[in-house]
Amino acid sequence: MYKNRNCGDITAADVGKNVVLAGWVHRFRDHGGVYFIDLRDRSGLTQVVINPEKSPEFEKLVSDVRVEWVLQVCGEVRLRPEEAVNPNLPTGEIEISAEAITVLNTCKPLPFAINKDENTDESIRLKYRFLDLRRERMQTNLKLRHRVIKFIRDYLDERGFYEIETPILFKTTPEGARDYLVPSRIYPGQFYALPQSPQQLKQLLQVAGIEKYFQIARCFRDEDQRGDRQPEFTQLDMEMSFVERDDVLDLLEDLFTTMIETVTPEKEILFRPWPKLTFAEAMERFGKDAPDMRFGMELVNVSELVKDSGFSVFENAVANGGSVRGINAKGCGGYTRKQLDELTDQAKLWGAKGLAYVKIDQSGETNSPFRKFFSDEKFAELLKKMDAENGDLLLFVADKDAVTFDCLARLRVMMGDRLGLRDPNVLAFCWIVDFPLFEWDDEEKRWDATHHPFTRPRKEDMDILETDTGRVLGDQYDMVLNNYELASGSIRIHERSLQEKIFKLIGLSEEVAKERFHQMMDAFEYGAPPHGGIAPGIDRLIMLLANEPNIREVIAFPKNNAARDMMSGAPSETMDGQLKELGLQLIPQPENKK
Ligand code: ASP
Repeated sequence: MYKNRNCGDITAADVGKNVVLAGWVHRFRDHGGVYFIDLRDRSGLTQVVINPEKSPEFEKLVSDVRVEWVLQVCGEVRLRPEEAVNPNLPTGEIEISAEAITVLNTCKPLPFAINKDENTDESIRLKYRFLDLRRERMQTNLKLRHRVIKFIRDYLDERGFYEIETPILFKTTPEGARDYLVPSRIYPGQFYALPQSPQQLKQLLQVAGIEKYFQIARCFRDEDQRGDRQPEFTQLDMEMSFVERDDVLDLLEDLFTTMIETVTPEKEILFRPWPKLTFAEAMERFGKDAPDMRFGMELVNVSELVKDSGFSVFENAVANGGSVRGINAKGCGGYTRKQLDELTDQAKLWGAKGLAYVKIDQSGETNSPFRKFFSDEKFAELLKKMDAENGDLLLFVADKDAVTFDCLARLRVMMGDRLGLRDPNVLAFCWIVDFPLFEWDDEEKRWDATHHPFTRPRKEDMDILETDTGRVLGDQYDMVLNNYELASGSIRIHERSLQEKIFKLIGLSEEVAKERFHQMMDAFEYGAPPHGGIAPGIDRLIMLLANEPNIREVIAFPKNNAARDMMSGAPSETMDGQLKELGLQLIPQPENKK
């Protein structure tokens, strides 16, 4: 080894010892003829003192050295003079008096600083990701990720789970996105699909008698990018035999709670046990099925109350089958006209036609553009229903349900942010259950599975599968944390006949169903056990635990927002002959599509 100790681990107990360190020059400074280098390795920093008078090599070094040079330093550990002690640094009591220094490598001028957190353009950070990852923040994130995954592995191992790898080159496994395809050289014109998840394979492992499976699995989905999406991402993929819904939920709740208590004890888990909300309840109270439950400001349905209020915007929304709902942003009654206009513009961007408000000042005086349409009595009723107090701001959306919910859900989160109600160190987990199994695809005029086609309908709803398809609820569940869906899962179908029925209901012809999923249907005829599972997203979890704004900050080598790897340039054109070998030919693309 080039070193016998780590920079970050040396303490006063080591005083008098000779140590050999190797690492990067984090900082250096000249203190009137004596030079100080903060030497950094993964474990932290140590101050090295260089007296150039000791040797001509030292003299040359101190004039040449630059940040991020790689040095090997031999020297003696000694106590710092009292006035130089740094209580903020684990090694702040000591320093190394250099006896010999070897330059292991030099470093070009950096594209951005590594020793401080500057606001560097993300494309530059991603281009030089190998440097970006040297920064303390990124090292901390990768360490956290490692520790979370290690905890999960140990926890599941203790409970009898096997970690089993499943193929990356496989066949279409739908999770609602496009597939990435890999052409086969051996079978020209044929393609593997990268799995959108190991869904089918983990179910087949249950048929195979594995009973308890997990995998830290890479999933591939070709979809438009957003802050919390990547073309490839990591899931804790799990599947178990002979379980019912609550067996899965209880295990996951315990795994996540103990993991967070161990790995990030500074976080507060708000609810124990985690609340279970039905999908319908989550929509009604929060306007979305992945609510932020750290704060109230719940949606209030005032449709009944305002449907004959005299205010036509409200009346029409209800008459047209929509609804009028509101939130109470407590303490925002002093918002100015300009601030309210901004909120309205924002609501319009989210698809609402406008935003109706009532401001209540500290003395109880109200101000609302629609006040004049309401009788005194109705208006008082509205305030009461909204739990309005002096100083509050009531915000209403009147539209189709989908718009009302979506707009108010976003507005609620935005106001929650403004009011400081979304402390990242508070974790409000909840379960959402009883999702509709199908949703109507208006473009294709057919039902589609809301989760994936392997989800089991609830026992109670088996009879209405074909007669009242839209009302069928699935035995499926989502794990939600602070406004994010962290996991989806379900109890699965394990009988061929039921699986065939579901395929038929979502418009898959027998032929297509067989071509795509014959392996599942075959397997279900050979003693498939009842089974179910779930798959929490690791990247999102780490993002939330690390208080990062997007998942790129917790993935070593992510793609950018446009699905490109800025470091290598991938995707890139093929090399000579590759396409021919695969039997492929490119269709020329217009310049702007490249
Ligand atoms: N395969 C599902 C997904 O990726 C999770 C599951 O049902 O276990 O969302």
